[in-house]
Amino acid sequence: MSAEVQCPAGCGPMEYKTNRNLKIRAFDPLGTVFYLAGLILIANSIEVGSGETNPGVIIGALLFIPGVYLSSLVTTDLSCNTCTGVILESKSIDQKLKGDLLGLSENKAEYIRTALSSSTEDSEHDCPDCGKKMSHIIVPIERERRAYEDPLLPDVIADWTTKSDSVKLDGCKECDLLWFKNAKREQKLSMDTAIIPKT
Ligand SMILES: [Zn+2]
Ligand SMILES: [Zn+2]
Repeated sequence: MSAEVQCPAGCGPMEYKTNRNLKIRAFDPLGTVFYLAGLILIANSIEVGSGETNPGVIIGALLFIPGVYLSSLVTTDLSCNTCTGVILESKSIDQKLKGDLLGLSENKAEYIRTALSSSTEDSEHDCPDCGKKMSHIIVPIERERRAYEDPLLPDVIADWTTKSDSVKLDGCKECDLLWFKNAKREQKLSMDTAIIPKT
């Protein structure tokens, strides 16, 4: 890509921003060990129906919380300060849009690249790289949501509900880039708890 990428929505040049994605796990030698050890300790220390806090839960949380931070994915993506639009390039597409470890859901990057190739709907914007019209797709997702929004509550003890949802995006299959109208859409699709169910 050229040094300066213009926002597809016409706002002007976009900027590279580095973000730590707390809701996307990446391997980190220390962070992953902390994360898993904390999780196991908490899971083993919870006594259902007991009013007392087991010290294992506290020690587990002390490992789990820095583990979440250290084992989160750091990416650098183009974003627009005016419209909050985000562009994901190849590397970020592969890092952020994964499947689950067990392969029970679609690999998000693969699904999106296939959908873009077969899409017949044009985006209203041109690709900022090659200048051709991008394609528009709607990605169906299932989102796991905590009944109580507490980002530090480990998955094992959180109460989960599933919700069907979808995310609209544009992309250029030639340049392998995705355009999200705003950062929220991108985050909604990227987080590990959003999956594309296999059909
Ligand atoms: Zn913009
Ligand atoms: Zn292009």
